[in-house]
Amino acid sequence: MKARVMLIGGAGYIGSICGHVLTQAGATVVTYDNLSSGHRAAAQGSLIEGDIRDRAALTTALKTHRIDAVMHFAALSLVGESVKHPLRYFDVNVAGTVSLLQAMSDAGVRRLVFSSTCAIYGPPQRLPMDEAHPHAPISPYGRSKDMVEKILAACREREGFSITALRYFNAAGATPDGLLGESHSPESHLIPLALDAALGRRPPLSLFGTDYETRDGTCVRDYVHVLDLASAHLLAAQRLLAGDRGDVYNLGTGNGTTVREIIDAIEAVTGLPVPHSEAPRRPGDPPALYASSEKIRADLGWEPTWTDIASIIETAASWSKNPRY
Ligand code: UDP
Repeated sequence: MKARVMLIGGAGYIGSICGHVLTQAGATVVTYDNLSSGHRAAAQGSLIEGDIRDRAALTTALKTHRIDAVMHFAALSLVGESVKHPLRYFDVNVAGTVSLLQAMSDAGVRRLVFSSTCAIYGPPQRLPMDEAHPHAPISPYGRSKDMVEKILAACREREGFSITALRYFNAAGATPDGLLGESHSPESHLIPLALDAALGRRPPLSLFGTDYETRDGTCVRDYVHVLDLASAHLLAAQRLLAGDRGDVYNLGTGNGTTVREIIDAIEAVTGLPVPHSEAPRRPGDPPALYASSEKIRADLGWEPTWTDIASIIETAASWSKNPRY
């Protein structure tokens, strides 16, 4: 792919690994990130330090680098924090995206791949969840992403944009070469916390809820390897560059894994016990979430290659043992 792609929020976990995959595919990537939670060492291509709410800086960056398409990863994404500080979430996630769209319009760049989330659906009314599932997000985080999707739909319809929104389920894993992986502060995700507990770097893991109506009482999630997420972004961008107007797609494997199954897999992969204790349910956690990914498979030809949870965890474990940032 010969295109020039700007990664907004590209110094974070998913953006940096998408940058790596795009570069391997022949694209020229430029990372635009304010480094509020991203890492300088993760950024791919050239790095522009800037805020998504800075329309003028974005416009200049898009024009200077003659950008063909944008991928937008920049967002606040902690559900609990969003409940405490909703306005921050609407500012960065919603107003920030409006600023980006205005800058893109000013610069004449109208192709966008957007990082959305299954949190826009809210508690599942049916499983697996398909793209037609009703939207009833329960957190300000989920609501902010849902608002953005509606804004994007209007821009696709009336402002001449071509936009694909990818609704992520649970991103996991690292690049097998150990160069890029997950490093959040604070960390709230199951796999890195469980690995750190096994490695003795953090206190025992709290199992949030063991009385759900699932096969072992713990929550079921759909874990997708971050390299499979990245390949979906590449396919989506190629389609937009070929003249497609874009669409919305779930990005999950369709396989559900429980919290206890994750712990078992970590123990099997590392040979270390995962110290853990049972804890109350975490507010807002639905018992089970897994995707129907029929649409993205059929339309974009996407096929996850990391279908076995142990292989996903292997890459996460080697990263956790020796994180580069
Ligand atoms: N979880 C847990 N203990 C933790 C962190 C997460 O039991 O310390 C559970 C959480 O309740 C959910 C699953 O692990 O069922 C995945 O949570 P994570 O925060 O990784 O992703 P989410 O599904 O919330 O996006």
